[in-house]
Amino acid sequence: MAKTKAKSEDPKKLSKKAAKAAAKSGKKAKKPGSAEDRSVDADAADPALAPVPETTAEIEDWATPPREALGVVDGFQIRDFDAAATPGWTGSRAEAEARLAALGEEMSELQERLFAEGRSGGRRAVLLVIQGLDTAGKGGIVRHVIGMVDPQGVSLRSFGVPTQEERSHHYLWRIDRSLPPGGKIGVFDRSQYEDVLVVRVDGLAPLEEIEARYEEINQFEKALVDRETYVVKVALVVSPQEQYQRLRERLERPDKHWKFSLGDLKVRAKRPAYDEAYQLVLERTNTSWAPWYVIPADNKWFARLAVAELLVQALRDLDLTWPAADFDVTAAMAELDAQQQ
Ligand code: AMP
Ligand code: MG
Repeated sequence: MAKTKAKSEDPKKLSKKAAKAAAKSGKKAKKPGSAEDRSVDADAADPALAPVPETTAEIEDWATPPREALGVVDGFQIRDFDAAATPGWTGSRAEAEARLAALGEEMSELQERLFAEGRSGGRRAVLLVIQGLDTAGKGGIVRHVIGMVDPQGVSLRSFGVPTQEERSHHYLWRIDRSLPPGGKIGVFDRSQYEDVLVVRVDGLAPLEEIEARYEEINQFEKALVDRETYVVKVALVVSPQEQYQRLRERLERPDKHWKFSLGDLKVRAKRPAYDEAYQLVLERTNTSWAPWYVIPADNKWFARLAVAELLVQALRDLDLTWPAADFDVTAAMAELDAQQQ
């Protein structure tokens, strides 16, 4: 693709340059305004007031913004979905990786602000719901996207076959008690949606009950958003061909056997039923307060970039600032200096 990028030293492009340089040197890029960066940034404005520099580097490689390119439109049909596509993205894989690194810097900065807000009593949180069949790359998203931020600010929960205790409660019980507290980025590796996916495909609950769950989930998410948890839902879609390759690799490599389960083959054999179940989820639970994004996941680099974009966008929407001190800063400084004499 022909690029017509300005060569000027646009400060907004620096974070990508820093990330690229860091990738070369094998070091983490400096955070603007961080301690190691302060020497060259001495005359910068008060960091409490400074806006987070947005990762606009290579933004022109998104011909269509990620939310628009990945959202569910009327008439969406999962069976026609191209899992190898890179909707909206016109850049190369290398450019996507560089942009992901830059997004990581921004995500990290924003997450620290969210964490600080939570520490100061704020209740706002973000919840990333990751759905997808085996090998779709849910774990890779956790490692490569969520892994870019401070683990202290993350609340990660995976949902497998319900335990005996979980089964004795309403299906949303285990979800409710796993929600992120204020200040955290919650991550669900599988979620409440299993209760209308595997449960529907395998007939693990009466159909009538399953049919009522979609609206129940919508209302549950509405209540969540009302109490200021920002919900980002991503469905990773892998093609049957790519899934075959990934399962094959899990079988060929002893270091990947732990990721394999015979159940994965049973699920794979029911792909048409899973596609139908996903179709219903996307039709019935794509709400204005918690919309779905469908991520083509045959290219891991694209799926990671796409999810990072959506998460950073959510964090940007929160307009995070640093919490004001709840003590007299001047007096505290004077006391500290007095101790030092
Ligand atoms: P994994 O994510 O590979 O560890 O697999 C977890 C397994 O738990 C998947 O096969 C899911 O379909 C299954 N699972 C998750 N939630 C439920 C549920 N509510 N009922 C039945 N099976 C579930
Ligand atoms: Mg699995």
